[in-house]
Amino acid sequence: MKYYDKLIFEVSKEGRSGFSLPVNAFPAAPALPEAVRREAPLDLPEVSEPDVVRHYTNLSQMNFGVDTGFYPLGSCTMKYNPKINEEIAALPGFAGLHPLMRKESTQGAQKVYEEMGKALSAITGMHTFTFDPCAGAHGELTGLMIMRQYHLNRGDLGRTKVIVPDSAHGTNPASAAVCGLEVVEVKSLENGRIDVEALRPLLGPDIAGMMMTNPNTLGLFETEIKTIAELVHGAGGLLYYDGANMNPLMGVVRPGDMGFDIMHLNLHKTFSTPHGGGGPGSGPVGVAEHLAGCIPSLKVSAFHGNFGVILRAYAYILSLGKDYLRQVGAYAVLSANYIKECLKDVYKLPIEGVCKHEFVFDGLLNDGAREGVPGATTLDVAKRLLDYGFHAPTIYFPLLFHQALMIEPTETESKETIDAFIAVMRKIAAEAAEDPNILHEAPHCTPISRPDETTAARNPVLKYQDTL
Ligand SMILES: *Cc1c(COP(=O)(O)O)cnc(C)c1O
Repeated sequence: MKYYDKLIFEVSKEGRSGFSLPVNAFPAAPALPEAVRREAPLDLPEVSEPDVVRHYTNLSQMNFGVDTGFYPLGSCTMKYNPKINEEIAALPGFAGLHPLMRKESTQGAQKVYEEMGKALSAITGMHTFTFDPCAGAHGELTGLMIMRQYHLNRGDLGRTKVIVPDSAHGTNPASAAVCGLEVVEVKSLENGRIDVEALRPLLGPDIAGMMMTNPNTLGLFETEIKTIAELVHGAGGLLYYDGANMNPLMGVVRPGDMGFDIMHLNLHKTFSTPHGGGGPGSGPVGVAEHLAGCIPSLKVSAFHGNFGVILRAYAYILSLGKDYLRQVGAYAVLSANYIKECLKDVYKLPIEGVCKHEFVFDGLLNDGAREGVPGATTLDVAKRLLDYGFHAPTIYFPLLFHQALMIEPTETESKETIDAFIAVMRKIAAEAAEDPNILHEAPHCTPISRPDETTAARNPVLKYQDTL
């Protein structure tokens, strides 16, 4: 253990202080009433200023983020976030706004909402957007509430079910359940696309609509959208587009043109807002013209969503402009396909062919299993990557494969970074083949190695306990 891996409580020395104040020349304030006074003094660490600075700086360096390294977390679009977006969101005229200010004094902010609505309509082909939802899942719930409202407005009370593919992001069935809709699963084909023949018999007068993610969670473009749209509409349902994966499609194709009625975008993925760890998000929902009337009746957040995230997205869209925005996807797709092709001789690729912005391996081709030594798993590969300074990809999702390893490089990484990642992934595959125990015991170079994940989730120890 390095000296500065010590906790600040362990560095503490009685009587040491990080500040000195002039003698107080004012009369003492009246003492607090006995009843509200602390019974024992707070046991705060006593340390010098440099110790405090080092404590926080070292803690910050134990973290991993897009600003410290490559973060190929599939389904999350962890792209680099240009700092100009932060500067714009921090401008005092925006950052200092209060949500209860009068209309006349917030004209600039309202203009941003209006312009963003126009920009997102141009990108998606949807008619109207609401910016109230604060996350992708929140957008799904809002979209499904719109779907339900549409049927209720028509006096059609029997539509209580929503169709969700087995390849959907976990939030889709969860949002449907929260909305009080029953989830009906539709299977995927061997090639990872929705099985249209399996869909047909599910459609009927009890179907409110269907949710689709495109590109789907395997990073594949759904090929039968036109037929699916005709079938769902023909049965009286609406078609919902989970647009959290819009990154590869911006400026290329528009859900509105494909026949979708409702969709959400994840501004905190596609439109460059730092996310992860549950940070602020924005999941604006767009609807086709015939549903525009269903939006105003909804109130899903206290005010108007996370304005700072919307501002960052606005700055991002304006700084790229129409021509460069459409290049984002092209580079993201190129990077993903390049990694896939460079690694598929050592990792198992369950579905061949061109992917969009991400793809899924199903573990190692040679996991090194031998007499008395179990083979290296996807978890082992992910843990070993940490030793080499890369964030792990998404693992064990989607659930379609047992050893899923979902890689999304995004467009913001250089070829050199991507090549370095490929080299490390190949090295790990070679290590596994030679001696899987190296992987079973990884990571070797992080402050802690492998906590018991069940105990960590069920009984997390989140504060200092004096065990010394
Ligand atoms: C990330 C994601 C979501 C959920 O978005 P949150 O902002 O995390 O709620 C939904 N669908 C897909 C396909 C996603 O990748």
